[in-house]
Amino acid sequence: MNVLVLNCGSSSIKYQLLNMDAEAVLLAKGIVEKIGLTNGSFTYKPEGKEKLVIEQPIANHSVGMDLILKTLIDPKHGVLKSLNEINAVGHRVAHGGEYFSESVRVTEETKAKIKALGEIAPLHNPANLTGIETMEKLLPAVPQVAVFDTSFHQTLPKKAFVYGIPYEYYQKYAVRRYGFHGTSHKFVAEKACRLLGWNITEKKIITCHLGNGASITAIKGGKSIDTSMGFTPVAGLVMGTRAGDLDLGALLYICEKEGLNLKQANTLVNKQSGVQGISGVSSDFRELTFAMEAGNERAALALDVFIYNVKKYIGAYAAAMNGVDLIIFTGGIGENDQPVRQAVCADMDYLGVKINNELNATIKSKDAILNTEDAKTKVMVITTDEELVIAMDTMKLSK
Ligand code: ADP
Repeated sequence: MNVLVLNCGSSSIKYQLLNMDAEAVLLAKGIVEKIGLTNGSFTYKPEGKEKLVIEQPIANHSVGMDLILKTLIDPKHGVLKSLNEINAVGHRVAHGGEYFSESVRVTEETKAKIKALGEIAPLHNPANLTGIETMEKLLPAVPQVAVFDTSFHQTLPKKAFVYGIPYEYYQKYAVRRYGFHGTSHKFVAEKACRLLGWNITEKKIITCHLGNGASITAIKGGKSIDTSMGFTPVAGLVMGTRAGDLDLGALLYICEKEGLNLKQANTLVNKQSGVQGISGVSSDFRELTFAMEAGNERAALALDVFIYNVKKYIGAYAAAMNGVDLIIFTGGIGENDQPVRQAVCADMDYLGVKINNELNATIKSKDAILNTEDAKTKVMVITTDEELVIAMDTMKLSK
């Protein structure tokens, strides 16, 4: 069975085609970017063949998806003989609200709910829905599945998701903590338990998904019981360009001083803050590290703030679960940034955390156990694969 996995943003489409017959095998992947602009681009990388990059205006999502499908069956670059070989399409959908605690087959009702949730996820859900509707037109006979970033966190107890604001805003507008990166947190926790031969229902795990967007989740007995992102992905850790937890009074004060409207305030906390905002250098951890090594003090400060944030969340979630058996690092930073991992794990003996720093310095983009033999708490690097989760759910629900 071949599954096409799509992640549609407002101006981009990331895609992967996977064969799921035995082990999942990647057939092709790529990205359509700058949709709607004059300098659009289409990147396509088939396995075992040469990469293709086309620079041309791509008017809308429909044109972008048409280009993906045509290239997949192109006699020279393609990996399929005909579109009939695509058996199912899986869509990453940002917000499932309180409607979806697991992945679902796309129906008229699913689409209506994804559309309604566009109110609380205006940057993502409308684009995700466009992706679904476009695929329905292009591949009408093929089953489609929606996989939500929020659904794994629907097990949060009320005390972890209710905000300290008038309760009527939860009742009227569904304002509460939802959490994101759910597919990744679930995937790495389950994979680690498989590798360790553990029964996840007996364990307390803290998963640190550290990428451009970053979030930490407390998983007790296999269920998410707390997570650092909130109603939107701007909450929690200081991230690449997102502020993370911030005194609301400080934001109001800045808006007043600078005369910012709601849209500008939104841009400030989502696009101009985080380690980018602190350093003034970059949101990219590799560039921050270069700058720090060259003596840039604000780059060093941004890294310090990030590391301190991660440490505090680990402490908070160990408290929430009355202990922790395993801490997992994943995402671009979690999988690759050895100094960040070392600094987060330093001085955490109160939790039984002790990692082998020499070993840690050799681990990049691969699964590994970092803790020393005598440490009480396990620490692991686990590579995440959100597309694989989407493909697996899609396969399960398309049969
Ligand atoms: P996204 O949220 O966009 O999926 P990723 O999970 O790809 O983000 O993570 C991107 C982050 O990972 C960037 O800050 C990048 O600098 C960092 N990163 C990637 N590779 C490395 C590396 N080898 N060393 C340090 N940081 C890295």
